[in-house]
Amino acid sequence: MIGGGQAGLAAGYYLRRQNLDFVILDAQPTPGGAWQHTWDSLRLFSPAAYSSLPGWLMPAQDGAEYPDSDHVVQYLSAYEQRYSLPIQRPVRVQAVHRAGEWLRVETDTDVWSARAVVSATGTWRRPFLPGVPGREAFGGRQLHTVQYRNPGEFTGQRVIVVGGGNSGAQIAADLAPHTDLTWVTQRPARFLANDIDGRALFDAATARRRALDTGDTDTGGVASLGDIVAVAPVRAARDAGLLKAQPMFARLTEDGAEWADGTRAEAAAVIWCTGFRPALSHLAPLGLRGDGGHIATDGTRSVNESRVHLLGYGDWTGPASATLIGVGRPARDAVREIADLLA
Ligand SMILES: Cc1cc2nc3c(=O)[nH]c(=O)nc-3n(C[C@H](O)[C@H](O)[C@H](O)COP(=O)(O)OP(=O)(O)OC[C@H]3O[C@@H](n4cnc5c(N)ncnc54)[C@H](O)[C@@H]3O)c2cc1C
Repeated sequence: MIGGGQAGLAAGYYLRRQNLDFVILDAQPTPGGAWQHTWDSLRLFSPAAYSSLPGWLMPAQDGAEYPDSDHVVQYLSAYEQRYSLPIQRPVRVQAVHRAGEWLRVETDTDVWSARAVVSATGTWRRPFLPGVPGREAFGGRQLHTVQYRNPGEFTGQRVIVVGGGNSGAQIAADLAPHTDLTWVTQRPARFLANDIDGRALFDAATARRRALDTGDTDTGGVASLGDIVAVAPVRAARDAGLLKAQPMFARLTEDGAEWADGTRAEAAAVIWCTGFRPALSHLAPLGLRGDGGHIATDGTRSVNESRVHLLGYGDWTGPASATLIGVGRPARDAVREIADLLA
């Protein structure tokens, strides 16, 4: 098992139940995966019970319907102890090679042999920045979601936030009262209705999976509903008129941004809330990527190497698999397939 965030723990839970001999190698010194590094005001987009891993519901957080990231870290720490998951930290896997019947897993401290490998390394380590003209010319600060903590250091500054997803909207809402904010999105911002949170999104994803499994018409899943969950701080900023998205600018200049019609906005900082890519460089020696650089999977199993499973990276490794509540099912299926393989 490579990675000891929520996806690694969910798989660990099922590996325990199958009585398989396994180890979880995690690059971080402490439990909690990416949740240890998010911005201070982040709130989950679902209540605790709807943010749970298999076997044990996340306890509610006192005074907060939508838990913060510290609460998630505490839950994941307690979860790995509760199920006595065998985790080694900090151990970074550098490469996985084929070695006959075995897979050789090389880490920064030692080498392991495994009959099967589950890669659950998340995306946090691979922030994505779009190729926008002028990025090198811009003289101010540029940072990605992964580097943003709180509005403190930006107070009173002109700031541009790029991105129309939940990260962009939440960070824009965080900054709006304290800065001269320009929020830009690639397409018009699509807020979900106030009563739609992660619960409804998960139910929509589940309904879609059932429809596809049974050959019914594709319900469209969550994409048809909108992009941004109106968590309380986002709703407050939006309702106060502070969250008005502008279209994407054409280029960055030395002191700000310029739109195609010549409009300009000065800025001391640009915060890119433009998503992530899967952190998979350790799998490169296996040559799993096909045309277009994509790793083909059947469920979580690599089509080109049946001993390797990819877990938690997004819908391509299981519907809603990159969420706390959604990773349980693909984790269970992956472990079942591994148990069959080893039988
Ligand atoms: C801003 C933001 C808000 C989100 N909000 C929600 C939400 O409200 N509800 C929800 O359910 N989901 C939410 N998500 C989605 C999702 O739950 C998180 O992205 C989650 O952290 C993914 O878990 P993971 O275990 O796949 O990856 P991670 O949490 O990133 O864990 C991967 C672990 O693998 C380790 N690792 C990486 N590479 C190696 C290597 N080579 N060797 C060994 N270890 C390695 C990492 O150090 C890390 O500990 C949010 C995501 C983001 C980015």
